[in-house]
Amino acid sequence: MGLESFELGGRVALITGGNRGLGLVMARALAGAGADVAVLSRQQAQAEKAAADIGQETGRRTLGIGADVTKAADVNDAVAAVVAEFGHLDILVNNAGVNIRKPVEEFDEESWDLVQATNLKAPYLCARAVSPHMKAQGYGRVINVGSMLGVSALPDRTAYCSSKAAVMQLTKVLALEWAGHGITVNALCPGPFATDLNIPVIENPETNKYFVDRIPLGRWGNPEELAGAAIFLASAASSFMTGSTLVVDGGWTAQ
Ligand code: NDP
Repeated sequence: MGLESFELGGRVALITGGNRGLGLVMARALAGAGADVAVLSRQQAQAEKAAADIGQETGRRTLGIGADVTKAADVNDAVAAVVAEFGHLDILVNNAGVNIRKPVEEFDEESWDLVQATNLKAPYLCARAVSPHMKAQGYGRVINVGSMLGVSALPDRTAYCSSKAAVMQLTKVLALEWAGHGITVNALCPGPFATDLNIPVIENPETNKYFVDRIPLGRWGNPEELAGAAIFLASAASSFMTGSTLVVDGGWTAQ
C-alpha cells in the first residue's frame, strides 16, 4: 500500500462545522486529497463561502449547508441534500463542537445540555442519518472528533470532558455495529489547537501560560497539523483500523 491509498478521488465527504477552525482545515484537506466535500454550519452564508473557497482552491465539487446538528430534522435534511447533490456519501466527519467552561456549581442545565447535544448527540444523529447510505454501498468512513479532554481532564469542563469521553465509546459501539458493512468508525482527538474555541484560554495570559507549560512540544498546535490524520482516517490507508482513537495533541496525554 503506497501513497495512492491516501487518495480520495471519487469520494464524497460531509464535514460538520466545516466553515471554520479544525473543520475547515479538514474539509480543505479532504478536498485536496480528491474528495468532493459538503460543509455544514448553523450559518448558511459562512458554510456556502467556505464551500466556494474550497472549490476554488482545489477544483473539487463542493456544497455549503446551513443546519443545526443538534436537530434530527436538520441532520436528516443535510444528509439527503448531500446525496441528492453528489449521488452518494462516503465520509462523515463529526466535527461540530462547543465548549463551555465554568465550575460545576455554576454550570446551568442549559449550558450542560447544549454541550452534550452538540458534542455527543449530534454525532449519533449524523451517524444514524448516514447509515442507510453507507450500508447500501458497503463502504463508509466515520470520523468522530473527540478531544484530548476525553482522555485526560481539566477543571471547569464537566460537560465538555464527559461529552468527549463518551464520543470514544460511541465510536467503539458504532465500529462494532457496522464492522460487517465495510464502514469504519474512528475517533480523532485533537489536543490544544489555536482556534476560536480556545480564544478564552489563549487571550488570558495566565491560562495561556498554564496550557503552553503543559504541552510537551511547547506550543499550541497549528490547525493545519490535523490535516494528515484526517486524510489517513478518511482514506483506504486506515482500512484495518476501526473503533480506535488517534490522538494529535503535542504530547499532552503522554504525561
Ligand atoms: P470552533 O469553535 O473553531 O468551530 C466550531 C465549529 O462547530 C464551527 O464550525 C461551528 O459552526 C460548528 N458548530 C457548533 N455548533 C453547531 C451546531 N449546533 N450545528 C452546526 N454546527 C455547529 O472549534 P474547533 O475548530 O476548535 O473545534 C472543532 C472540533 O474539534 C470540536 O468538536 C472540538 O471540541 C474539537 N477539539 C478542538 C480542540 C482545539 O484545541 N481547538 C481540542 C480538542 C478537540 P457555526 O458556529 O457556524 O454553526
